[in-house]
Amino acid sequence: MNRYIKRLALMIPPVKRRYDDLENLRKENESIKLQFEAKLREYEARLYEYEAGYGCSFIQQFSLIFDGRVDTENAGFSFCCEPLPNIPRTALRETGKESIESFIAMREKILASSRTELHNGCAECSCLRREIWQNENLIHYVNLSMYPSPCDCMCVYCLYRENDSDAFTRAEVIEGYEKVFDTLDYAKKEGLIASDAGWQVSVGEITIHPYRDRIMDLIKKQSVRFCTNCFRFDKEIGKHLAANPRSCINLSIDSGTPETWHKVKGVNNFKVIVDNLAKYYKSSSRDGQIGLKYILLPDINDNHEDYSGVIGLMKNYGVNALDLSCDVRCKYNKSEEEAKKLIRAVGTLVAMLIKNRLKHTLLNNFSPSEQTGIETFAEELLNSSGEN
Ligand code: SF4
Ligand code: SF4
Repeated sequence: MNRYIKRLALMIPPVKRRYDDLENLRKENESIKLQFEAKLREYEARLYEYEAGYGCSFIQQFSLIFDGRVDTENAGFSFCCEPLPNIPRTALRETGKESIESFIAMREKILASSRTELHNGCAECSCLRREIWQNENLIHYVNLSMYPSPCDCMCVYCLYRENDSDAFTRAEVIEGYEKVFDTLDYAKKEGLIASDAGWQVSVGEITIHPYRDRIMDLIKKQSVRFCTNCFRFDKEIGKHLAANPRSCINLSIDSGTPETWHKVKGVNNFKVIVDNLAKYYKSSSRDGQIGLKYILLPDINDNHEDYSGVIGLMKNYGVNALDLSCDVRCKYNKSEEEAKKLIRAVGTLVAMLIKNRLKHTLLNNFSPSEQTGIETFAEELLNSSGEN
């Protein structure tokens, strides 16, 4: 209403009374609304206090990770493969049933714990957060990273590579593997693994593993990520990709040129690798089934030529997003200067990916503050070049 007309109207007493009544009602409603919102916030905070607990995405999705040697006293499995000395871990027992029951009991104990009672590893872990978790009842992720396992690559950052060609003739190795298979058979038979669970096969190099056929049989019809060094094209894996669109291969390429590949992987066969990527791509049933990872090693593979090379491969083989990671051996013991250098190296690659309309995923080997630093650095680069 025009201000002049309003002033005139309010000079009429009945109109003025009606107007004042409506104004009071509006103020009263406003105050009720504010009180209601304050109460709602208070209830939400109380609910959070009551429901929130410490956890991480690995515990939440009930991960089952066979990581590490199967033939030592410490042989067992866990929710994660965090490079900390005391992560929650269950020993491989005599039977699969005992192993799984002990794992479930450990998870229940953690879910009921306060921070002070958590495993030391969890309490120190950068993945640990307090929030309201919707914890799964079934296992949603299975990772097969048992060792010893053969691999003919020689990555500079490998935690497990060793010359142990006799490993599979030793009784303790065979026994350890049998316990792993028994544990998985029991979990499957009892319906503890969700039908849509994601599986990861990263046993050294699957294509030359003595238990390759048994592992391939175990993961038949599942959604699988095969971590392979791509030294050879495996027809069975190719067939699996064709039949299971949710499965993929993942190659830690860590370079975009033959020279850097040789430096990081210890073998001079970049062309063979690229040819095999092409064969897997041809076998795949959708874009995104070829996955590439780039483990950033400052001063080794953080240059423009390698970044351009890997971007070219992503475009050629329908790679949806480049997984970015760093040397896990340094996750918890970098100096401030090393962390800054890493952030700049990864941020530069992230900016190049964005410029090329390609996606990336920062793996949790970067701490939350490193992840923020990387994204901020990339954004600054893009802004300074007028790309944003
Ligand atoms: S160590 Fe970290 S990632 Fe592993 S279960 Fe504990 S909180 Fe989760
Ligand atoms: S491909 Fe994997 S197992 Fe093989 S050397 Fe590299 S990191 Fe180690």
